[in-house]
Formats: sequence, C-alpha cells, structure tokens
Amino acid sequence: MDLTNKVALITGGAQGIGRTISLVLAKAGAKVVVNYNRSVDQAKSLVEEIEAFGGQALAVQADISKYQDAERLVQTTVQTFGTLNILVNNAGITDDALLLRMTEEQFDRVINTNLKGVWNMTKHAAKILLKAGYGRIINISSISGVLGNAGQSNYSSAKAGVIGMTKAVAREFASRGVTVNVIAPGFIETDMTKKLSEEQVTLWANQIPLKRFGQPNDVAQAVLFLASEHASYITGHTLEVDGGLVM
Ligand code: NAP
Repeated sequence: MDLTNKVALITGGAQGIGRTISLVLAKAGAKVVVNYNRSVDQAKSLVEEIEAFGGQALAVQADISKYQDAERLVQTTVQTFGTLNILVNNAGITDDALLLRMTEEQFDRVINTNLKGVWNMTKHAAKILLKAGYGRIINISSISGVLGNAGQSNYSSAKAGVIGMTKAVAREFASRGVTVNVIAPGFIETDMTKKLSEEQVTLWANQIPLKRFGQPNDVAQAVLFLASEHASYITGHTLEVDGGLVM
C-alpha cells in the first residue's frame, strides 16, 4: 500500500503501538509527524530511524489533552510538510481502579486524554482535511470500550466515547471525502499491558480464540489499510484487532 506524498500525524507516535504505526506509514512513503508528550528521546531516535531509510519525519511535543497544544501540533504539521492527509489518534493512557476507589482526578485525566484529546485533534485537523476534500482519520479505541472492563470505568467510557464520536464525525465528513474509522485493539504487547500480572495475562490469553496477545504491528497494518486507497468505501467502521476476543 503506497502512501507516497501523503502527510500523516500520529499522536503518541514515539513509542508502543504508535511507534510501529509511525514506522509502517513512513515505510509506505508517508511524511510522518511523530507526536510525543514525554518520550522525547524515543521520538528523536525514531525520526533518525525513519530518515536513515530515506523517509521524512518530524517529532513534535504536544499534550493532546490541551486544546491549544493540539492546535499547535496541526499548525506545525502544515507549516513543515504543507498539508495533512492522515490523522491517527493513537495517544492514550490507563489509570485503573474499581469505581468505589477511583478518584475524580483519575476519571478526568483519562477522559481528558483519551476522549477530549481525540476531539481536540479532530477539531483542528478537520479544517485542513475538509478544505482539501480528502482525508483519513483513524482512531485507536479499545475492546474495553466495546465490552466494558471492570476497573476501567474511566477508560471504557473514553474508548466507547471514541467509537460514538467516530460515527458522528464520519457522518458529518462523508460528503467531503474524509473517512473516519476506529480500530479497537484487544490485548497488545506494549508498556500498557506490561502492567498486567502474570495471572491476568494467562486468564485473558485463555479467553482469546487465537490464544495469544497481539503485537503492535497487528494494529499498525490495520491502520495502513484504513489509511490507504483500498479503504476508500469504508467509514464509521469499528475494526477489532483482538485475536477474536470480541465476536
Ligand atoms: P503506551 O505504550 O503506554 O503508549 C501510550 C502513548 O500515548 C505514548 O506514546 C504516549 O506518549 C502517548 N500519550 C499519552 N498521553 C499523551 C498526551 N497527553 N499527549 C500526547 N501523547 C500522549 O500504550 P500503547 O499500548 O502503545 O497504546 C496506544 C493506544 O492503543 C492507546 O490509545 C491505548 O489505549 C490503545 N490500546 C492499547 C492496547 C494494548 O493492549 N496495548 C489495547 C487496546 C487499546 P509519551 O510516551 O510521549 O508520553
């Protein structure tokens, strides 16, 4: 799948699933903006890695939960590469606790990053995509937003919200050549799932029909497909990349 001359912005693109998405889109020919919040070293080394194989990339610090940061991130993308074609809303956090123990701060922090952050980025990117009459928005939700997960009333709310937001925006943008889709990963091996105990890993893996956790590349290849011309008739869709856990 060829993304030559396309400009892609990946939030939280310096590490975890986002890092692999950045690499896969850059290898497909896209100019890539790697957004990071705290992982400055990883962002810089990723840009070097992309440039080493002849790709173009730029690392930009921004906290996507902040409206002005999201605006600056989109502006910097357009100033550097001339436009924006593909937005991947990947950045996300967890802060788990059972509802009775969860603080208001824990709830707000996860909602502000995982839900408001997606809205902030979509809001600012929309002006560019709609004006161009072409665009791809790919939101990374979670099966936690589809099934609900005990201990994640904040995260499940945000991720279910992302699915609802995607469908609303897909309807708003459809006539303007901009598709909006969701990927809902299951359990993928990253820092996020390293927080799970060995007992939890075994418990979940046994419930996955494919009997294993996924890799970041499993998600990145789905992003590449949705970003490509091959997915031009798909919008408002939720694609589960979960080894069959949700079906
Ligand atoms: P991760 O390794 O913890 O990475 C999270 C990424 O989000 C980091 O790049 C981080 O950037 C970025 N981020 C967090 N807060 C941010 C903010 N305020 N502004 C900008 N960037 C921010 O997690 P991951 O597993 O790769 O997760 C990536 C996405 O997949 C998330 O949306 C997650 O909810 C979703 N997901 C993951 C799994 C899984 O099993 N791993 C399953 C379902 C869904 P910095 O490091 O620079 O702060």
